[in-house]
Amino acid sequence: MNATATVNEQGAAARLVTRAYSHFLILLFALAPACLIAYLFFFQDPTLKFEHHLFHEFAIAAATLAGLFITYVTWRCYMSSGERLLLWLTLGFLGFVLIYTPHGAFTGMARHNIWLFLLYGPASRLVMSVLLFIGLLSFGRPPDAVEKRSNLRYWLTWIGAFILIDIAVAGVANSAIAGNLWVRLSMEGGALLCSALSVAVLLIRRIRSPLMLIYGISITAFLLSSLAFILGRPWNHMWWLAHAIFAGGFLFLSYGIIQAFHTTRSFATVYSQEEMMARLAAAMARTESALQELQQTNQKLEHLAETDPLTGAANRRQFIKLVEAEIARAKRDGTPFSVLALDLDHFKSINDNYGHQVGDEVLQAFVDKCLNAIRPYDGVARVGGEEFMVLLPKASLDLGQSIGERIRSAIESAVFESKVGHRVGVTVSIGVSQFWHDGNTIDTIFRAADERLYRAKDEGRNCVIAL
Ligand code: GH3
Ligand code: MG
Ligand code: MG
Repeated sequence: MNATATVNEQGAAARLVTRAYSHFLILLFALAPACLIAYLFFFQDPTLKFEHHLFHEFAIAAATLAGLFITYVTWRCYMSSGERLLLWLTLGFLGFVLIYTPHGAFTGMARHNIWLFLLYGPASRLVMSVLLFIGLLSFGRPPDAVEKRSNLRYWLTWIGAFILIDIAVAGVANSAIAGNLWVRLSMEGGALLCSALSVAVLLIRRIRSPLMLIYGISITAFLLSSLAFILGRPWNHMWWLAHAIFAGGFLFLSYGIIQAFHTTRSFATVYSQEEMMARLAAAMARTESALQELQQTNQKLEHLAETDPLTGAANRRQFIKLVEAEIARAKRDGTPFSVLALDLDHFKSINDNYGHQVGDEVLQAFVDKCLNAIRPYDGVARVGGEEFMVLLPKASLDLGQSIGERIRSAIESAVFESKVGHRVGVTVSIGVSQFWHDGNTIDTIFRAADERLYRAKDEGRNCVIAL
């Protein structure tokens, strides 16, 4: 076994152990309230009570405000992502707020009609846990259509249903069955059962995205708070602990909602850090290759922008750039350079006699012949239809003239054979000018070369004029 394999194996083992440890921590965190419940169950003094109405009212007012706020944020997330789970979460929070508020409002009734005060608590938890369970069942379903999200009647119907539940609870509280233990137990037990089912679904479906982990821990807190409510009696410590566990779950879940709000506005598509890093690496790789492609395309475009498509020679724009660079060099080291202006003779008659296609082929072949006749570091450019220029670095007028002569005779002696078998002859007239000798700007040396080219035409064509 080689060293790298050993290191990899060690890495894999460490990953396994740390992952198991993190699962263990999550479990511990989710079940921590159970330790508190067990502690109170075994050690609390049954006579100890903390009946403080104002504190209770204040706590429930705070819960109502927090509940309304998080309902709103959840609703905003749902409106933007359409995720079903968020719809049920919105309804769960809203239902909880609307049914739990009377529990606070009727605190003062605790002495007169204890049931009117007490029953709203389990009712609100039952409604919320049912709605959260339904939400969990819809996890992973396609998002709701935009029209459905903003259907006012739908939302009003739900609000109406929650108010009806409020009225029903008041009815039960004022009826003869209110005092039956099973009334309260069935509601609290129902909430416990729904939360237990939710946890089971999360585990069975192995839903593990980071926000769903928060969801799972919060629902475990709701489950345990229902257990504590069942074990507690109004105003005793278990009863208060039950409130605290529920509040912990509620606040933690609202933390998850805020995470969703600040990221993808959905619960399913907030990724784990590991997944995020993997996605980032993939995105960076894609960017890198796109950048390379872009660079290649840019190079191609640059080449296209510099060359004449028919002959592959430089175009006028590129030729001017090359000459400017040569002027700078000439000014630096004082060496001259020359340019040639070339124009094919009677080119029109080639087109007229053989067709434009043959004319094109002659232009292409002309550039090849030119390139053969010049030095490797000289450059040919097509500056007009059948007009060309040649840059001759470090060449005096004399050398320019002799290179021009080389081109002229190479063209004169060449026979251009077209694809369809025409054998065409052509000649070229050339004007030469030299930097310093004919001026020290592009304009002056080009003008001098052009004038000499016209003189070459005047003097019968197929010749080179340098002075
Ligand atoms: P001169 O000796 O006075 O230069 O005569 P010329 O016929 O070469 O000159 P003129 O300027 O009258 O005609 C140039 C011809 O070059 C006309 C045009 O049809 C032809 N030409 C210009 N560009 C192209 C091209 O891209 N392909 C072809 N086949 N012909 C071209
Ligand atoms: Mg011409
Ligand atoms: Mg011509």
